[in-house]
This record gives sequence, C-alpha cells and structure tokens, in this order.
Amino acid sequence: MKLIMLGAPGAGKGTQAKKIAAKYQIPHISTGDIFRSNIKAGTELGMKAKSYMDQGQLVPDEVTIGMLLDRISQDDSKNGYVLDGFPRTIPQAESLTAALSDRGEKIDYAVNVDVPDENIVNRMSGRRACVGCGATYHIVYNAPKKEAICDVCGEKLILRDDDQPETVQKRLTVYHDQTQPLIDYYNKEGILVEVDGTQDMEQVFQDIVKVLGA
Ligand code: ADP
Ligand code: ADP
Ligand code: ZN
Repeated sequence: MKLIMLGAPGAGKGTQAKKIAAKYQIPHISTGDIFRSNIKAGTELGMKAKSYMDQGQLVPDEVTIGMLLDRISQDDSKNGYVLDGFPRTIPQAESLTAALSDRGEKIDYAVNVDVPDENIVNRMSGRRACVGCGATYHIVYNAPKKEAICDVCGEKLILRDDDQPETVQKRLTVYHDQTQPLIDYYNKEGILVEVDGTQDMEQVFQDIVKVLGA
C-alpha cells in the first residue's frame, strides 16, 4: 500500500503516519525527519535545508524531489510506504506521479487530515520533539511519562525552532499557498480521503482504517 498524508503543519500527519506504518508494516517516510537527521549529521543536504526550515519556508523542489525519489527506490519500500510531508507542492506531486507511472505504480490513497488554522498554533506550541529519536509528544494531548524525557529512548524533549509561534504563522501561509492545492490535485485523481483531524488521535486513526481496510 502506498499512501500520502496531507494536512497543515501540526495537523497530525506524523502521528497518524506512525500508527499506519505500524499497523500495515510499511515504512514511514518523513521528509522533515530526513532533513532534520541530515542537519544533525552536518551533511551538505542538511546545510542546504536548514536556512529554509528555520524561516518556515519550503526547501526547494530541486533538493527535495531527488531525495524523496531515492528514498522510495530503496529495498524496504518495495511493498509500499506512507509519505509524511511529501509532496508539498504541485511540482513535487507531478514528479512523484511521473516517477511511479514509469514503473507501472501509483499512490493508492492521499489522506487529508483536516484541522482548521485556529487549532494549529495550540497543537504546535504544545508539540515536543525528541532530540535523540525524533519521536513527538504533546504536553497536553500526548504527554511523555516523565516530563521533558522521551519514553522511547530517554533523551530530552525540545520545542522545535520552527514551532515557535511566529514561524508557525509563516508555515501556515506557505501551506495555504503551496500545499493546499494538492487536495484538489488528489481529488481529481480520485484517491483523496478526508478525515476530521480535530478528533482525538485514536478516533482519527479509526476513521483512516475504515477506508484502508483492517
Ligand atoms: P510538520 O510535520 O510540522 O508539517 P515537517 O517535519 O514535515 O513539519 O517539515 C519541517 C520543515 O521541513 C518544513 O517546514 C520545510 O521547511 C521542510 N520540508 C519538509 N518536507 C518538505 C517538502 N516536501 N518540501 C519542501 N520542504 C519540506
Ligand atoms: P504534523 O506531522 O502534521 O506536523 P504531528 O503529528 O507532529 O503533526 O502533531 C502535531 C502535534 O499535535 C503533536 O504535539 C501531536 O502530539 C499533537 N496531535 C496530533 N494529533 C492530535 C490529535 N488528534 N489531537 C490532539 N493533539 C494531536
Ligand atoms: Zn527519543
């Protein structure tokens, strides 16, 4: 199964993508996570991405598309994957469609996790990310067992630089300009699935599973 998660920053794409990946035994591929691990490792790719990410801008398509196409041609992606944070622009979506169709493949579903802007700032200001393994928490809705410590790996939890309120506003504007048009793109392709992302995490997941199958 090949899936795409759509939705505003903070809508819950990563949260749901992790649950989907575990249930259907497919890799969770997050372009944001790939960029962050490259920044941490100090690679050239990471250095290119960082200035854009810090400003709440998208990393240019020239960098992002090649990176993602490489990732999905790896062995573990043969039986499918859930893409989280890609595509984010129409050219990204078109490149993905074209690359897959060259191999006689296609995306099965694009799941749009719908959350209005009013709820987003609250979600983002409460989000905490692990510096060690990238796991995400929310101080109210998904609190770690021990304050500011990752349940999975024991490292400390931080507020991401780009989750500061000013940068979140910028990211929302970028989302509406460049990413929201993908909802229409995948609707026309006939594979759009809309879920109400304001519900609690488990209910959102149940709604997705209803469509994907048990
Ligand atoms: P969120 O989960 O909050 O939406 P991500 O971790 O997906 O955030 O992305 C963080 C940042 O990484 C984005 O604001 C953007 O700068 C960059 N990024 C991630 N995916 C892409 C992409 N497909 N195209 C361009 N930039 C991206
Ligand atoms: P995205 O990947 O779309 O940026 P995340 O999955 O990282 O979003 O979720 C953003 C924040 O909101 C995180 O702190 C997460 O724990 C929290 N969150 C995710 N889904 C829900 C939900 N249904 N209800 C409340 N909080 C949620
Ligand atoms: Zn961790």
